[in-house]
Amino acid sequence: MKNILDRFKLPTAAENKRRDFLKNGLLGGLSLGMAFDGNVQKEMEFITQKVKRESKPSELKITDIRIAHLGGVPFNSPIIKIETNQGLVGWGEVRDNASPNYALMLKSRLLGQNPCNVEKLFKEIKQFGNHGRAAGGVCGVEMALWDLAGKAYNVPVYQMLGGKFRDEIRMYADTPEIDDPNNFAKKLKETRLDKGYTFLKMDFGIGLLADKPGMLTGANVWKLNQKDKKAKTVGSYNMTKHPFTRIQITDKGLEYIADYVGKIRAGVGPDIPMAADHFGHFDVNTAIRLGKAVEKYQLAWLEDLVPWFYTDQWKQISDAIETPTLTGEDIYLKEEFIKLIDAKAVDMIHPDLASSGGILETKKIGDYAEEHGIPMAMHFAGSPISMMANVHCAAATENFVALEHHGVDVAGWEDIVTSDKPLVINGFAPVPTKPGLGVELNEEVAKKFLRKDSQWFAPTDQWNTKDSWDRDWS
Ligand SMILES: [Mg+2]
Repeated sequence: MKNILDRFKLPTAAENKRRDFLKNGLLGGLSLGMAFDGNVQKEMEFITQKVKRESKPSELKITDIRIAHLGGVPFNSPIIKIETNQGLVGWGEVRDNASPNYALMLKSRLLGQNPCNVEKLFKEIKQFGNHGRAAGGVCGVEMALWDLAGKAYNVPVYQMLGGKFRDEIRMYADTPEIDDPNNFAKKLKETRLDKGYTFLKMDFGIGLLADKPGMLTGANVWKLNQKDKKAKTVGSYNMTKHPFTRIQITDKGLEYIADYVGKIRAGVGPDIPMAADHFGHFDVNTAIRLGKAVEKYQLAWLEDLVPWFYTDQWKQISDAIETPTLTGEDIYLKEEFIKLIDAKAVDMIHPDLASSGGILETKKIGDYAEEHGIPMAMHFAGSPISMMANVHCAAATENFVALEHHGVDVAGWEDIVTSDKPLVINGFAPVPTKPGLGVELNEEVAKKFLRKDSQWFAPTDQWNTKDSWDRDWS
C-alpha cells in the first residue's frame, strides 16, 4: 500500500530543486522548442552518453560482425564480435579449427536485426550450418546473440534458459595419449588430479600398436602414425570411415591395450571417473572386442568407437558391452540426437555446443535426452568465450554430467577473458552471474594468440550484401 501511495505523492522541495538544476543546468544550452536538428541530436547524445542502454532492448540492432582468429587455445578459434547501435558488444566463437567464413557469411542476414530475438534469428540462419565444423558459424553467432540479449536485459544467459540446476560446472580434463602408461598416469595425477579435477578423459588407440609386431591385422596398407598433410587427403587412413579400413586388433594387441589401461587405472585409482577416446578406425566387431577387453577397468564411457551416423552399429556395440557408450560431438541440430536416443543406440550423448546448434538447441537436446534417462556430457575445445556459452547451457540443463576442458595445459588460457577469476576452481567452473555470458574479451592477452594470417577484428564490408534467396522451401 505504501509503495502505491508513494507513486502519487507530490515532489518535495529538494526534488523540485534537482529538476530545475537538470533543466536549467544540463539542458540550458538547448532550445527545447527548436527543430530536432543535427546539433541538438549531438548535444543530446553528449548529455545522455552515460545513460545505461540496457533499458532499450526493443530498439537494439546489429550493426557489424567482425572476427579475430586466435590460434593455440589450444586449437584455432575464430572469435566473433557483434556490434550494435547501442554500444553493446556480443562475443561468440566459431568451433575449433573451423573457418571464420562460416560466421561471416551470416553477416548480411543479421545486419539491422534485433539480436534479442535469438530463436527467430537462429531459425533464419540455421540452414547455413551442417555437421562438424560447418556448424561453427551458426552456433558461434547464436552464442553472441545470447550474450547481447543478456546484456540488453541485464541478466545472465542461464536465467533466460529457465534458471539453473547448479552453481558450478564440473569440468573433465582431456589428456592426449602418452606411449608409456606409467608416465601417462603420472601426468594425469600431477596435472589433473592434484589440481582438483574430479573427472578425467584419456586417449588411447591403435596408434600405440602400429609399430609393434603381431598386434594389428590389415594395418600394413595404412600409415597410421603419419603426421604429414597427406594423412588428411581422401583415401588416407584419416579420411577413411571406421568400417572401411578393415583393420582388426589381434588378441595380442587387445592384451597390450588392456594392460595399458590397467596401469593407468591403477595410477589414477578406482574412485575417479575416467572416460576414453580416439581409439582409431576399425569396424564394429573390433570395437566390441576392444570394449570387452577394457571392461573391468570401469571407464566412464567409450567415445566415438564408430562414426555417429551409424545408428545401428552403435546399438550393436551398446548392446554387447557393459561400459557406457557415447557420441555426438559432430552432430548438428537435435534431430540426429533424437534418432540415436529413440533407437537406444548410446548410453550417453556428447554434443559440442559449437556444432550442435548453440546454447538453446543444446539445451533442447539435453532435455530430450533427460526425458529418456540419458545423461549429457559436453564436448568443448575452444577459448573461454565458448566455454562460458557451455557453462550457461550446462547450468540450465538437468542431465548435464561434465564439460570437457582442452585448455588446462595452455599458459594464459583463462586470461583471454576478463571476468571473475579463476574460471575453474578445483575442477569446477563457477556459473557467472554477470549479464550475458559474463565474460569480456581481454584484448591485450587475446592479441598474443592472434594467428599470423588474421587481422584484429578487421572490417568485413565485403560480407554486407545478401546475394541469395534464402528460403529453403517452396
Ligand atoms: Mg572426442
